[in-house]
Amino acid sequence: SIVVTGATGHLGRHVIEQLLEKVPADQVVAVVRDEAKAADFAARGVRLAVADYNAPETFDGLFSAGDKVLLISGNEFGEGRVGQHKVVIDAAKAAGVALLAYTSAPRSLTAALADDHRGTEEAVLASGVPYALLRNGWYHENYTENLAPVLEHNAVVAAAGAGRVSSASRADYAAAAVAVLTGEGHENKAYELGGDEAWSFAEYAAELSRQTGKEIAYNAVTTEALTGILTGAGLPEPLAVVFAGVDTSIEKGELVVSTGDLSRLAGRPTTPLSEAITAALKG
Ligand code: NDP
Repeated sequence: SIVVTGATGHLGRHVIEQLLEKVPADQVVAVVRDEAKAADFAARGVRLAVADYNAPETFDGLFSAGDKVLLISGNEFGEGRVGQHKVVIDAAKAAGVALLAYTSAPRSLTAALADDHRGTEEAVLASGVPYALLRNGWYHENYTENLAPVLEHNAVVAAAGAGRVSSASRADYAAAAVAVLTGEGHENKAYELGGDEAWSFAEYAAELSRQTGKEIAYNAVTTEALTGILTGAGLPEPLAVVFAGVDTSIEKGELVVSTGDLSRLAGRPTTPLSEAITAALKG
């Protein structure tokens, strides 16, 4: 079987959808915390398994020998994500799965946000399980799903200077994951995944202006100022520091990925940022 954790998350939903275009539904297992959120999958014949990274026993016997497993990284920051992911890695090892794919972060990313991914990659390698590291770059949606304050203030606020980002849509990253899960020869490979075209925040603001007909500027602020803005918007201080740190990494070019791995695996060009903006503006 092909087993996907985090299946009811944003990325996981794209992965399940695209798997269903390639393999029979009864070969797909969606690992979920809340079965009710996956009723639509079940209705289409996808098998469900209920498990939680925080409860190791829920993964006992969940995988079978020969399974191909996609471990989608958890979203509980500062809650010991490496330990959570190890629960899945240990279960995959015990079962003797054929492949364990993990949604990591670009090798070049030194921001604190990447620490859990480094730790998880080390645990994956130490396990001896055949692996595929899907080092996902940034999502378009990190920006395009948060347009309300941008449109309200007519400003894109970031602490990234003139730095560029090779973002791509979640659907693009899902396509790469599906290619690895359904294809051959991906054992013990690491893929550096990013969009075909890198953009700067000034270009992003210009594209927003073009599509909305409003004058939207890029307001480049310092890391400290951004941290203050984020805490002011209600984000806990440690998380604000982590997110602002990502912009510092962007300024240094750490989220530019130019390997072409993503479009190569997906078998098509990645989604342009402009398309993601159009979709977001349509709501
Ligand atoms: P989501 O937050 O939409 O999905 C996270 C998934 O992880 C959900 O399905 C959630 O389950 C599951 N999950 C969280 N905690 C647990 C747990 N304790 N046990 C079992 N499952 C758990 O994120 P996305 O789908 O958008 O992205 C996937 C991952 O990629 C994120 O979790 C994060 O690690 C990373 N990420 C990457 C970004 C990028 O730009 N590359 C940006 C943001 C995140 P449930 O559905 O039950 O809530």
